[in-house]
Amino acid sequence: MTDSTTSPAAAPGLPFEQTEMHPQRWGSPDRAAALPESARGLVEMAFGVDERPALESPALPAPAIEPSLLDGLRDVVGAEHVLTDDETRRLRTRGKSTPDLIRARTGDLSDAPDAVVRPGGHADVVAVLAWAVQHHVAVVPFGGGTSVTGGLAARRDGYAGLVSLDLVRMKSLLAVDPVSMTATLEPGLRGPEAEALLAEHGLTLGHYPQSFEYASIGGFAATRSSGQSSAGYGRFDALVVGLTVATPTGDLTLGSAPANAAGPDLRQLLLGSEGAFGVITAVTVRVRKLPEVKLYEGWRWASFAEGAAAMRTLAQTGMLPTVIRLSDESETAINLARPEEIGGEAAGGCLMITGYEGEQAAVDAKRAAVTAVLDGLGGTALGEGPGEAWAHGRFNAPYLRDSMLDVGVLVETLETATFWSNMDTLYTSVKSALETSLGAGTIVLCHISHVYETGCSLYFTVATKEAEEPLAQWQAAKVAASDAMIAAGATITHHHAVGTDHKPWLAQEIGPVGVQVLRAVKAELDPTGILNPGVLIP
Ligand SMILES: Cc1cc2nc3c(=O)[nH]c(=O)nc-3n(C[C@H](O)[C@H](O)[C@H](O)COP(=O)(O)OP(=O)(O)OC[C@H]3O[C@@H](n4cnc5c(N)ncnc54)[C@H](O)[C@@H]3O)c2cc1C
Repeated sequence: MTDSTTSPAAAPGLPFEQTEMHPQRWGSPDRAAALPESARGLVEMAFGVDERPALESPALPAPAIEPSLLDGLRDVVGAEHVLTDDETRRLRTRGKSTPDLIRARTGDLSDAPDAVVRPGGHADVVAVLAWAVQHHVAVVPFGGGTSVTGGLAARRDGYAGLVSLDLVRMKSLLAVDPVSMTATLEPGLRGPEAEALLAEHGLTLGHYPQSFEYASIGGFAATRSSGQSSAGYGRFDALVVGLTVATPTGDLTLGSAPANAAGPDLRQLLLGSEGAFGVITAVTVRVRKLPEVKLYEGWRWASFAEGAAAMRTLAQTGMLPTVIRLSDESETAINLARPEEIGGEAAGGCLMITGYEGEQAAVDAKRAAVTAVLDGLGGTALGEGPGEAWAHGRFNAPYLRDSMLDVGVLVETLETATFWSNMDTLYTSVKSALETSLGAGTIVLCHISHVYETGCSLYFTVATKEAEEPLAQWQAAKVAASDAMIAAGATITHHHAVGTDHKPWLAQEIGPVGVQVLRAVKAELDPTGILNPGVLIP
């Protein structure tokens, strides 16, 4: 193995600067924008436009921790890495779900941490956890801050304080093994930073969730994230071959072979543990050669059912491209629509995107094989135009959500997964639960973007006119949709994780014995319950 510790500060040509997100919006403050003119007409027609006042920086509650306690923390990581200023605490408050944004927009930052501590490495993390146990302080691991399920909104009552364990200083590529094609990364690296460091070795991770610009390696592992290229590269948990985890009980170093029969796979217990069992301080992942070619194209299907059947055929014959996604009729119409085209032919059918990444010969062969199957099943090839448009705009939707909130339109997403034989039932019941709860004028869009031999995920986007009490409005819809998922026998989450929001449905999904197992593991690894209290464990 090559020991090649490098960090993005030293890496030339980073595609993104290390910027902080806007505390009340998604993404870079520089990209905060009014609703684009191209969308304004549609929004006006569908919901009306109700301009909201410009956002003001809300005040924060004063830190609720005894100041002298923090001296012990300063001794561990250095005084400059223990921050209690309002600006830093504001930026480490909650995640980026629509309810998170609405609360921040309306001045509620009551979940702000009392302090932000920035460890420089594994040993610092171990020492911070020991300090937290000693003083009974709650610790919230913070990666990119893109949680959409309340994963950063830990309970604080009963604790001497709550600190955000900000992994922003832990951004090194620790090692590359070009023979085994693995790399070991620190948890604080964001998606683009990890890709830039790997690219220097001619390698890629290929993990591109929509939150790619800000989400971190540790966060991907802690939430079992899935990226837009999951069909080709695999979801994040499938990429992980090893983990180092600091827990209040001691360290875990997992993953000494590509596969083993050494009892239950403890890596799987820590993947998706959302900071409740330990802090992931290093992740060893499978890597691939940087693709020579990236090619995306569009297909049209007469219906969602026909497009989904085609995806199933590809998955079950081992012919999945790197990217495959299918919008339902409504999402296709909205994505393609110009106001004058609504109801017209241009908005008909369902759009599928297929993408191929790899060496030229392999891309050509896969593309030819997939094209023959899709042709044979009745798809209409649309060429590279729609594919390139998708690839170009793939990270833009979250910025549009803020622009919609600016004019009084509530936009939120939720996701689930099921087996192919149950897909239609799940689709219909979740869509109808959302429409019934939110009432006339609500738009519900859906797409499939992660497929397996046995089933697929369904990702819903909802837009509706904001009510007087938007948090209650969304909460009722979320409960209705979540109940519908469980009633249909599906999962409460395919990739957004559990956080605080999904706990009641997780309990239904895994049953009382499953809950007991999670509680037992928590009690063993975090006996005093300082790690992310109230997150994940029902
Ligand atoms: C606009 C938008 C688009 C999104 N798109 C996708 C998508 O396409 N696919 C997808 O999978 N998800 C998506 N998400 C959800 C989110 O980005 C993922 O859950 C992501 O993996 C979280 O990473 P993060 O670094 O931001 O973690 P954070 O939000 O910082 O943390 C998430 C949880 O993990 C814990 N945690 C973080 N780092 C560690 C660590 N090192 N050790 C232990 N626990 C830790 C936190 O305490 C918290 O409970 C999206 C979110 C947004 C806002």
